[in-house]
Amino acid sequence: MAYVISDDCIQCGACEAECPCNAISEGDGKYVIDADACADCGSCADVCPVGAPQAE
Ligand code: SF4
Ligand code: SF4
Repeated sequence: MAYVISDDCIQCGACEAECPCNAISEGDGKYVIDADACADCGSCADVCPVGAPQAE
């Protein structure tokens, strides 16, 4: 299981700083989560202003 960032991402960068696993990086047009590194903690979803990170 991992979180996935939807196209709603506005590239604010808030989630990258919150991730305890450093699983989030800036991608092409949105931020992206490395599924292999994600610990499914939900911190990115908590901090995101647009609700882009979602549990898959
Ligand atoms: Fe990082 Fe947690 Fe979000 Fe996974 S759910 S990307 S570990 S902040
Ligand atoms: Fe995108 Fe939300 Fe992360 Fe900001 S906090 S970069 S809007 S996913």
